[in-house]
Amino acid sequence: MELSRTIPSRKEVVVFYAIKKDFSTFGEAWRNGRAGAHNPLDKCDWCHMPFKDGDLIALAFCKNSRNKVLCQLCAARTGEKREAGGG
Ligand SMILES: [Zn+2]
Repeated sequence: MELSRTIPSRKEVVVFYAIKKDFSTFGEAWRNGRAGAHNPLDKCDWCHMPFKDGDLIALAFCKNSRNKVLCQLCAARTGEKREAGGG
């Protein structure tokens, strides 16, 4: 016996109005700052790749979702047009 159904694949689109690619560096200070937090923000919000010490963390400001921390690969893939801060 079995049940089977096709789950339609979906495309998720998050629109950012700004991104700060050099928001922070992952490491001791970052971990301490997030200690006890519900979301430790220790991995990329998009591809879920864990950050390693020394990794640059990008912060993307979303229009239709909460802000996301991104690895540099995903940050580069957003097709940046504007940077937050610094002009
Ligand atoms: Zn990523």
